[in-house]
Amino acid sequence: MDAVEDLLQRTARFAREVVGPGAPRWEAERRIGREAIAAAAAIGLTGLEVPPAFGGLGLGYRVKARVAEVLAAADFGFTMSLLNTHNVAAKLAREAPQAVARRHVPDLLAARRLGCTALTEPGAGSDFAAIVTLATRTPQGWRLDGAKAWITNAAEAELIVVYAQTEAGSGARGIACFLVDAARPGFVREPAFALSGQHAIGAGGFRLEGYLAEDMEMLQPPGQAFKAALRSINGARVYIAAMCNGMVGEALRIAQGYGRQRHSFGQPLAAHQGWRWRLAEAATELAASRLLVAQAAERIEAGADAQLPAAQAKLFATRMAERQLPALAQAMGAEGLREQHPFGRHLAGARVACFVDGSSEMLLERIAALQREPDPAQGRQA
Ligand SMILES: Cc1cc2nc3c(=O)[nH]c(=O)nc-3n(C[C@H](O)[C@H](O)[C@H](O)COP(=O)(O)OP(=O)(O)OC[C@H]3O[C@@H](n4cnc5c(N)ncnc54)[C@H](O)[C@@H]3O)c2cc1C
Repeated sequence: MDAVEDLLQRTARFAREVVGPGAPRWEAERRIGREAIAAAAAIGLTGLEVPPAFGGLGLGYRVKARVAEVLAAADFGFTMSLLNTHNVAAKLAREAPQAVARRHVPDLLAARRLGCTALTEPGAGSDFAAIVTLATRTPQGWRLDGAKAWITNAAEAELIVVYAQTEAGSGARGIACFLVDAARPGFVREPAFALSGQHAIGAGGFRLEGYLAEDMEMLQPPGQAFKAALRSINGARVYIAAMCNGMVGEALRIAQGYGRQRHSFGQPLAAHQGWRWRLAEAATELAASRLLVAQAAERIEAGADAQLPAAQAKLFATRMAERQLPALAQAMGAEGLREQHPFGRHLAGARVACFVDGSSEMLLERIAALQREPDPAQGRQA
């Protein structure tokens, strides 16, 4: 067996034995599954795309998307939390000055410290260019003032990639990107957000009050940060689509098993045509969604422009999950409501997936805009 298949098998076992059983507890306790993130780190999952020179596995994007699908089959929130720490480690290893990367990447890989990425603010979600967290040049570095909200892992994360405006009113052009250390003065954490589900995602916010970032902690200057954020968002869209596939795949697997052993009117549920057609619909839409993810993931791994396939994969997968998870839960009867099954958690996960890294409406806008632009590869309208 090759190393990737071995990793995927270990990940599947970890999802089954650790994440699935832990998820109801993290939900009840309204917290990040931090002990499981440390266990995931021990099998390399915080370092998937991190170069071996930094202690990571140095794998390509397609493996990351497959890992995301396998883990989200057990729990969406856990997977988001883990991947957000992974993403900060990969970004620092790739883009930060050596001194900054060498200082922080080992802690992120070992999950001694969690990471998160903060674009959204109390007053700016979809309209990222409208952020008002201000970065002001000082003789000591950059002074950061403002607030961030709705950030995955913000309930506990210690290392935070923060996007801030360097020139009020300049929109995308003035946005720069900084590394913020939550242990330093000027970082004020808000209490974790109380939600209707998905607390393992650790959603929350924080304020920056005269926080001082060193010059070398500016990860991207104005003019580059906004574009870099949009580039990396394609990867996030595709792994979220893969996570929706994972949730639907698991719900389908459970419903198929239940349909064989549960009887009604003298025969197994699966023997009723009306019952099994529901599962056939889910299996078909899942297959289509997996193809969209595979196509987009291939483009990302090849370094090609993936805006359109990434937006389409996420739009389709989130809508597919929002259609099929309730249908599969219905096929389970009352049994599907038991906490040991993931139907309720997965439904909440699919709701969250409709917002993170571009809401469905923003994806539609992107897809519509790309229909109007000529596709350079094809020499025709995309
Ligand atoms: C659990 C969770 C975790 C998150 N994690 C992160 C994170 O780690 N980092 C981060 O930076 N952000 C994160 N987000 C924030 C997420 O990116 C935003 O929720 C998203 O960008 C949408 O912003 P909003 O919720 O403020 O909605 P708004 O921008 O207020 O929009 C409200 C509604 O109107 C729609 N809308 C807005 N403008 C238009 C328009 N022009 N045309 C049509 N419809 C429109 C939106 O699609 C949405 O349905 C997270 C959100 C959640 C729920």
